[in-house]
Amino acid sequence: MPIFRDLFLALSTNAAAHKFVLGFPPARAMTRRFVAGETLEGAIAVVKRVNADGMLATLDFLGEAVTNEQASRGARDEYLRILDAIETNQLNAYASLKPTQMGLVISSDLAFENISAIAARASQVGTTVRVEMEDSPFTQATIDLFKKLRAEFSNVGTVIQSCLFRSEADMQDLYALGAMVRLVKGAYKEPPTVAFPQKKDVDANYLKLAEIFLCDENAPPGTKLALATHDAKIIDWAKNFFKEHNTARERYEFQMLYGIRSDLQKQLNAEGYPMRVYVPYGGQWYPYFMRRLAERPANVFFLISNLFK
Ligand SMILES: Cc1cc2nc3c(=O)[nH]c(=O)nc-3n(C[C@H](O)[C@H](O)[C@H](O)COP(=O)(O)OP(=O)(O)OC[C@H]3O[C@@H](n4cnc5c(N)ncnc54)[C@H](O)[C@@H]3O)c2cc1C
Repeated sequence: MPIFRDLFLALSTNAAAHKFVLGFPPARAMTRRFVAGETLEGAIAVVKRVNADGMLATLDFLGEAVTNEQASRGARDEYLRILDAIETNQLNAYASLKPTQMGLVISSDLAFENISAIAARASQVGTTVRVEMEDSPFTQATIDLFKKLRAEFSNVGTVIQSCLFRSEADMQDLYALGAMVRLVKGAYKEPPTVAFPQKKDVDANYLKLAEIFLCDENAPPGTKLALATHDAKIIDWAKNFFKEHNTARERYEFQMLYGIRSDLQKQLNAEGYPMRVYVPYGGQWYPYFMRRLAERPANVFFLISNLFK
């Protein structure tokens, strides 16, 4: 339902809708399905459960489009707290952040400085930092930022979206660099000048991009692909691919979002596949929540039905 998706993605950046949803108790209650609370302590409790179930975790402090330097430093400090918590609690987890949360809108030097501090601490803790991909005005700046970070830190990875035309070239480039890449379909509204308008093309491109990272037995050291999707057809394709090519386990993992297809997460884990659950938390949940509604009309119908209860 592309119109539905477009509507909710437009609302995800609309200030009036933001204000309305914040004051709307059923929406607040429903965020708990996708967001592990507003505090780090709440998120740690979730990660402990995920780890106890035998799965890996990603910790994400929600926030984006930061336009003031002090706020970007505040977000950096929260990530340093996340890394302290990973170390203290011996969590099987890493951190994932948005470049615009780290100040990319203000300057790439500021984002680089903030993420470098996080990557250095992550390296001491023995874990990874994932630089996420936002909408296409930031794609080139994010790739540039990632490459600059990767030149200094081997524990930094990034994300590529199969919806974008440019992603095939980006995947080739990152593969040659020995990068860790999380492959997603893309959660933002993009114009047809830069992205496939049809979902079937986004899905087909996903497989093509995954093969770039998985095909070569002599992959550059460090190369790793995270297949971040809830799409059962893609997951079945990947499982068959791994079997056929005898792909080494260190070269891939599955990733899914907290609260989405938990049944499939547990099934893959039980089948012995590396499975990582993305656990977001924090007060800035609105855009993340709206993107989750945009992905699945049923989520909105569920929300509306709660209105009448
Ligand atoms: C770990 C992880 C990290 C991500 N990081 C980024 C990022 O950095 N940048 C970015 O642009 N995007 C990111 N995304 C989001 C991604 O781009 C997609 O928007 C999202 O994953 C939905 O696409 P899908 O691959 O699950 O496939 P779809 O074809 O959208 O969905 C397949 C099936 O999954 C289930 N499903 C999907 N979404 C939902 C939902 N919201 N609620 C309930 N069920 C659902 C449904 O059963 C659906 O039929 C990330 C996704 C994951 C899993």
